[in-house]
This record gives sequence, C-alpha cells and structure tokens, in this order.
Amino acid sequence: MHTNTIFVLQALTLTAACFFSSSMMAKSLAITLDDSPRSATGYFDGPTRAKELIAEIERHKLPQIAFFSVGNKADGEGKKRLIQYANAGHIIAHHSNTHLDFNKHSLSEYIADFEQAEPQLNTLPNYQRWHRFPYLREGDTQEKRDGMRRYLKEKGYLNAYITLNNYDWYLESLFQKAIAQQQKVDFEALQKLYVELIIESIEYYDQMAVEYLGRSPKHVLLLHEMDITALYLGDLVEALREKGWKTIPVKEAFHDDIADYQTKKVFKFNPGRIGEIAYDNGKRKGLWHHSLDETYIKRRFETEVLGNLKH
Ligand SMILES: [Zn+2]
Repeated sequence: MHTNTIFVLQALTLTAACFFSSSMMAKSLAITLDDSPRSATGYFDGPTRAKELIAEIERHKLPQIAFFSVGNKADGEGKKRLIQYANAGHIIAHHSNTHLDFNKHSLSEYIADFEQAEPQLNTLPNYQRWHRFPYLREGDTQEKRDGMRRYLKEKGYLNAYITLNNYDWYLESLFQKAIAQQQKVDFEALQKLYVELIIESIEYYDQMAVEYLGRSPKHVLLLHEMDITALYLGDLVEALREKGWKTIPVKEAFHDDIADYQTKKVFKFNPGRIGEIAYDNGKRKGLWHHSLDETYIKRRFETEVLGNLKH
C-alpha cells in the first residue's frame, strides 16, 4: 500500500475514534435554583411549591441541587421553605441580601449587602460558601470586579458561575399573570414550551462550548425557585436524558477546569462562563441565544399556551 494511503487511513481511523469517544460520552449538567425563597402568591403558595418541588426532584431521582438564596427573604414561611430544601439534601448558598444590582452600586455597598445576608443564610443547614451574583453582574468596572474577586477569595467563597442561561423567570411571569387574570392556560402546552425553550438554550450554549472550549464541560444550569419549576423540572430532566444528558451533583460541576477561568474582559451584562470564554476567543455576536428574548417567549406563550392565534 502506498504510504500516503496508509496515512489517510490512519487519519480517518483517528477522526472516527475521536468522533465516537466524544459522542458516546454523556453530556452533563447540574441544576441550580436562584432567588430562593421566591415570591409565591400565585398558582401555588410557598408551602405547596416547596412540597411539589421536592416531590418532583425525588420522583425524577435528581442528584443534589443548589438553592441560591436571598438573605432578606429568609424569614417566616420563606425560611421554612429553605430548611425543607436543605433537609431534603440540597445545598443552600448565597445570592446577596436584597438581590442587589451590582451595576447600580459601589463595591463597598455590594459588600455591605453581602455581609448582611450571611447570618440569615449561613445558619441554615447544608450551607455552602458559594456566591451567585444577582443578574450575573460581577462588576461593571475593573475596580468593582477585581474587588469582589479578591473579597470572595479572602472569605473562601466560590464565584458560583453558570454556563447555561435562559429566561425561565419570564415564562413564569407570563404564566402567573395569566392565572391572576383567570385566563385559560393549556398546561400541556406550557409544559412543552418550558421544556423546549430551556433545551434550545442548553443546546446553544453547549455547542458554543464545543466550538470555543473544544469540549462539553460539566455544565451549570440556571433556573429559579418558581411554580413552573415545581411543575416541570422533572419533565425537563427526562427530555434531557432522552437526548443523552445526565444530571450531576452541583459540587461535581464546580470541579470542572472552567471553574478557575477568569476573563480579562469587564462585562456590564455577563453572558455566563461559556459566553466569557467564547468572547475571549473572538466571538462578539450571539452571546445571548434568541430564546432569551422576551418578545419571542411572549409570542410563543400567547399562541401556544393561551391559544391566542393571531392571523
Ligand atoms: Zn437572582
């Protein structure tokens, strides 16, 4: 056989081996729920949401998830909810005291708010020193961003980044508004829309990771502690499993190499860790997927869930 032919054959075998090893490996993600305990005065009340959510997590055998919690909401019924989540084996972590927008506050104001939340949260069971920036805003100036990087490091906190972003909170707001206005909600269509929207964005950011990082990392999915989460989290996970994804504990996800990644860019609006990596490698457009667009979600909700077909 000619040497060139052998070389081509070897190259083909190698390509096939790489293709199979990466496609056979399950993609993985961990689930995190922000803004806990989130306002519950609509479809479910707080205790019902907690009961339904915990049952949903158990029914679908999800590993340990994390609840990024807001200090000033951790009292009364809200605190009871957080304790229930912790007692069900899940992690409670830090999401500021007043859900402060770092773009609108100085470094010292942000730190003061951070510290106010600590005694409300670090006394709860299963507390982890993980901080998730509200709105993912990590500081819109170098001084603020680097100040918080230093502060978290000194206090032994992890910046609990996300890799998979979506607008589940906006879909929840449309759902709650429809319930409040006693509109007829097609729950089956809502379930389908929820699953589709979130999977669309997951696949988009995973593809971006493969393109700019060279692999599918252990992902961290951002969701919120809300009624549609209690209703459909299990359906989302089952749909992901059918597509070859597996759910992993949050601690495992934060052991990926990207956990140490620090972008040089100061982002006013942060696209998540994959977006940061893609930006640093030259990507400028499409850091936010179109399923994170309110007009798009609203149009689909109105036509598919409320059945307002506009011709
Ligand atoms: Zn939040």
